[in-house]
Amino acid sequence: MSQYDTVLHPDFVVPIIPRGQVLEAHSVALKDHSIAAIMPRSKADEAAAEQHIDLAGCVLMPGLINLHCHAAMSLFRGYADDMPLMSWLQHYIWPTEQQVLNPAFVRDGSDLAIAELLKGGTTTLVDNYFFPEITAEQCDSAGLRALLNFPIIDMETAWARDADACINRGLQLRDRYRDHDRIEIGFGPHSTYGVSEAILNKIAMLAEELDAPVHIHLQETKEEVLSSVERCGLRPIDLLQKLGLLSPRTHCVHMNAIGEQDIETLAMHGAHVVHCPRSNLKLASGISPVQRLLDHGINVALGTDGAASNNRLSMLAEAQTASLIGKVQHGDPQALNAWTVLEMATLSGARALGKANQLGSIEIGKLADLIAVDVSGSHQLPQSNVASNLVYANNGSEVLWSWIGGRLIMSNGRLQTLDYNDVTHRAMNWSSQLAAVRSSLEH
Ligand SMILES: [Zn+2]
Repeated sequence: MSQYDTVLHPDFVVPIIPRGQVLEAHSVALKDHSIAAIMPRSKADEAAAEQHIDLAGCVLMPGLINLHCHAAMSLFRGYADDMPLMSWLQHYIWPTEQQVLNPAFVRDGSDLAIAELLKGGTTTLVDNYFFPEITAEQCDSAGLRALLNFPIIDMETAWARDADACINRGLQLRDRYRDHDRIEIGFGPHSTYGVSEAILNKIAMLAEELDAPVHIHLQETKEEVLSSVERCGLRPIDLLQKLGLLSPRTHCVHMNAIGEQDIETLAMHGAHVVHCPRSNLKLASGISPVQRLLDHGINVALGTDGAASNNRLSMLAEAQTASLIGKVQHGDPQALNAWTVLEMATLSGARALGKANQLGSIEIGKLADLIAVDVSGSHQLPQSNVASNLVYANNGSEVLWSWIGGRLIMSNGRLQTLDYNDVTHRAMNWSSQLAAVRSSLEH
């Protein structure tokens, strides 16, 4: 029997731990679901393995962890652009969902997103959308690792009558996936403006009892903070604190409109921030002061948000944007450097999931969630600074290979677990129906 299943031979290995390290002429060996060895190429060529894969021109790095998405909303790409968050939600997204949301929409939208996510190097998805049982099935069959947070909102939808019904359906789903090795189910209360205090209180108790993640849009805009203060006398983060909803299991998504006191509250409770810079820029919601959060020891992960507000699902594009706007925001070109954002897209995501011992870096014994990124194109030459090229010179489309838990998911640009033509064909079929709904909203 071979010592290893697969040995990968890239030009460079970016392990993320140790920070700042680039290994040249090294290979990585996989066995079962894990990383079994990292060794010099000269030794690796001799290693007994089922297969050796030549990754010439590529960087091998940990798979990207997308901490915030609404996968099925890919079908809303370009549907309602160039407007502020609340008009976008209230006048376009929510009324359209009332008309088109059903299991087929979520299946086709999720598949479209999964294809794009995999092609962009995402190996772990954190999602929040209606019919999460369907997104879970599609992620499972595509081999993706995922935390699906079931949506909780005080609004009747095609998925659930009200917030209590959301919780009941979500808890059944959590039960169904209790022993799954790649799919986990968490709580996804929409926001403090979309869910009542009584329901938030119930979520706090249940999530603590089940030791489950809580994923919530928080302080996305100044208006959200002001209206919360008017409504209940508290800023959204202070409301979460009062209700016992802030903990190391909490993902605070966005956190653009924040001050010093909010930063101290986050740090005190060990809650994670999820930064979605492209969505925040596009909706003109604001920019989270990420370097300040990091300087306070707060873990900040990266997410794409849904394609309706981004409009792509590329984690390399997200890392690039995070770095570039972080520098302007802090007036400091050293802020959010290439290594910082690469860590945010990998290891910080793993920390937010409580899985930093299994994911987020190339270390022996960790799960083999890996991607190989082509760095041989003219726009990435010369290769004098690999991290810089990955962050500042990428188009987001250079990922050629991926493995999740040791399973080959993308081989030299070709998806192995999805029928790409079928996925894109089904997505195209939604165009006319969505255009008709869109035009009915205008009249
Ligand atoms: Zn979102």
